[in-house]
Amino acid sequence: MSEILKREESAKLFAEAKKLFPGGVNSPVRAFKSVSGPPLFIKKADGCIITDEDDNDFIDFCCSWGPMILGHNNKQVRESIQATVENGTSFGTPTRHGNEIGSLIIDNHRYIDKLRFVSSGTEAVMSAIRLARGYTGKDKIVKFEGCYHGHVDSLLVKAGSGLATFGVSTSAGIPESFTNDTLVLSLNDLQGLEDLLREQHEEIACIIIEPVPANNGLLLQDTSYLAWLRKLCDDYDILLIFDEVISGFRVGYEGAAGIYHIAPDIITFGKIIGGGMPVGAYGASHEIMSHIAPDGDVYQAGTLSANPVAMSAGIATLKQLIEPGFYEKLEEKAIYFVDKILTHTKAKGYSFNIQRIGSIFWMYFDTKRIMTADEIDPKSMEHFKTMHHELLQRKIYLGPSGYEVGFISAAHDQKHLDIAAEAIIEVLDMIFSKES
Ligand SMILES: *Cc1c(COP(=O)(O)O)cnc(C)c1O
Repeated sequence: MSEILKREESAKLFAEAKKLFPGGVNSPVRAFKSVSGPPLFIKKADGCIITDEDDNDFIDFCCSWGPMILGHNNKQVRESIQATVENGTSFGTPTRHGNEIGSLIIDNHRYIDKLRFVSSGTEAVMSAIRLARGYTGKDKIVKFEGCYHGHVDSLLVKAGSGLATFGVSTSAGIPESFTNDTLVLSLNDLQGLEDLLREQHEEIACIIIEPVPANNGLLLQDTSYLAWLRKLCDDYDILLIFDEVISGFRVGYEGAAGIYHIAPDIITFGKIIGGGMPVGAYGASHEIMSHIAPDGDVYQAGTLSANPVAMSAGIATLKQLIEPGFYEKLEEKAIYFVDKILTHTKAKGYSFNIQRIGSIFWMYFDTKRIMTADEIDPKSMEHFKTMHHELLQRKIYLGPSGYEVGFISAAHDQKHLDIAAEAIIEVLDMIFSKES
């Protein structure tokens, strides 16, 4: 693979970072392990452009892994943060900002009566699981292979193939006793779930799912499957948790629950809700939320929870998302971009496809619809590695793994989408000319 891109400064900083942090990073995928070269050290970003320490400008489709739905350095968000910071950064007390964002969400979301703010998606999910267990008085939880719910001990579990197994952790450092209560199934396995619930429903507190599974490719499920989960949970007195850390405020203001018209019992948020600051939240009905301390006996707390600066970023973001037509316009951009690429690749008959929902897309080297984690061919990731490298040379930035989805922001205009689509087409032509 030829290198045109100047990366000296990033390489130097990465060498330094390796002495400071495990793998040189503070979150593993950032290390570029599955693609080539050192990670880019980004020094600034504006709109859909990120600029690295070597002064290369890239069109960004990672968008900080999802939060930057308005693009980077959005004027209203920046000004809202600045105005709040003028008065200090943290008080450890309730603030007006918390009320404002709370109303902005609750008044405009059919499925949430009450919220609790935390500082990350992981924390939101961890707390939601505790709430589900506290509320039902049951211990077991069901999750699906390929759904990521943050680095919560009991959820870092993947299934063996096929049938439900007791979870085997995918990370060291997690006692078996923590994962014994985690039951893992393949997505879209109706029979498996039905059998499992029939046998063990009296011990199962909740089923947790990413209703738009977007952390292991984009494993879009049928609405009927999600509706069936809802029904099954009702039948067996099990709580349904939608982990909407990635899909919340992304596929619509009411997230996946809103577009599929399914009422989960608990919803978790993160990413977009903080407008680029560290924020998470979970919400549910009055009744379920009344079990959270200090009203109830499920304890959960946070020194920096609902931090006013972070709340201000969230407020300024949500105010723009709630404008009529926001999501329609954003989706039009995504459709335009994806169609442009697929028109070419389908005409050429390439073994390539893009799955998309709203402004989330996933490019993969296969033609069939993929719904479960085990349908992804690990060998196809070699093509992604080439694509990632060649796109960097053309100043297009994708998340550094073929299992990661891409995002379109409101700041991606037609000019940038055209440039990026043409670069992707050029790279795919290159990859598939070598194949034949
Ligand atoms: C990103 C993500 C998380 C974890 O959020 P963090 O803020 O990284 O802790 C949890 N669930 C889903 C669905 C996510 O996409």
